[in-house]
Amino acid sequence: MTTTFRAFCALISAACLISFAEPAPAHAETGKIALTIDDLPGLTLVPDQPYVNYLNEMILRGLNRHRFPATGFVNESKLDSLDRMQQIANLQKWIDAGMDLGNHTFSHDSPNELGAAGYIADIVRGEPVTRGLLQAKGRSLRWFRHPYLETGTPAAVKREIDVWLAAHGYRIAPVTIDADDWEFAEPYDDAISRHDEPRRLRIRAQYLEHTERTIAWSQTASRGLFDRPIPLVLLLHATRLNADVMDDLAAILKRRNLRVVTLDEAMRDPAYKTRDPYVGKDGIDWLERWSEELKKPLPWATWRDPPKDIEAQYDRLQSDRHEPPVTSVKSN
Ligand SMILES: [Zn+2]
Repeated sequence: MTTTFRAFCALISAACLISFAEPAPAHAETGKIALTIDDLPGLTLVPDQPYVNYLNEMILRGLNRHRFPATGFVNESKLDSLDRMQQIANLQKWIDAGMDLGNHTFSHDSPNELGAAGYIADIVRGEPVTRGLLQAKGRSLRWFRHPYLETGTPAAVKREIDVWLAAHGYRIAPVTIDADDWEFAEPYDDAISRHDEPRRLRIRAQYLEHTERTIAWSQTASRGLFDRPIPLVLLLHATRLNADVMDDLAAILKRRNLRVVTLDEAMRDPAYKTRDPYVGKDGIDWLERWSEELKKPLPWATWRDPPKDIEAQYDRLQSDRHEPPVTSVKSN
């Protein structure tokens, strides 16, 4: 969520509080949710092929155990950063498990830095292996997910990318629930590597609590926008953390009365025809974009960021790696 947009909402927070203080009766009826899992074949603190193989295996086992369809979004740059053949085998497992795959660009760079032409070239570079695996099963590469949820700025850049995507058979995969799982995932990896079991379990519990709260918030927020429940799209990442909590995630979805559907089915809802007018530089989710289009506020008064100590652990790991500030390395 953007600071500027939050500041704007703070001005109308009184209205937000009145409208959204009461949790919506989400339990009253079954809703739908699509699962999307980014940064395949894996997002980990340190590159380690067996660790990446394991997390793919466990995510897929978890999805299959609960009969959940999912769409995985691939960064083909990750194929050569480890063992290329094993990385491709991991993608093949997703296809064999009946999951769909989409393009998440080759290098996971931002359109704000690459510009339209450079960004489009990065999308094309991210296609060949994923497209080949899908085509071998008689399927096609149809989905695109923007890294960092950054869709391009100024308006001309966004438009050029959008027009190119549509002309090349891509559909943009929106996100309506972003629980910042990437921020928990690296401290979780770190706890595993240090054999710090109490810390690992603490992070896991904090993550699940934050995820359930964020899903509930998004259910309430989307009802506020459309005056009815709409199918939601959850953003997750291919991490060891998610591999380890698939049953807990399933339990959360059950408690929230959400049935997992494909991305296709979720996006058949007319809400997904709502225009996305946002042309700023921030990576914001689609509820924020639709809030701008529909001129209806989101319930920011009840929004919670990840716990401060998780943010601090993530920042410390980033600075240990001498990488740029958190805003440019976040892993959407
Ligand atoms: Zn990503």
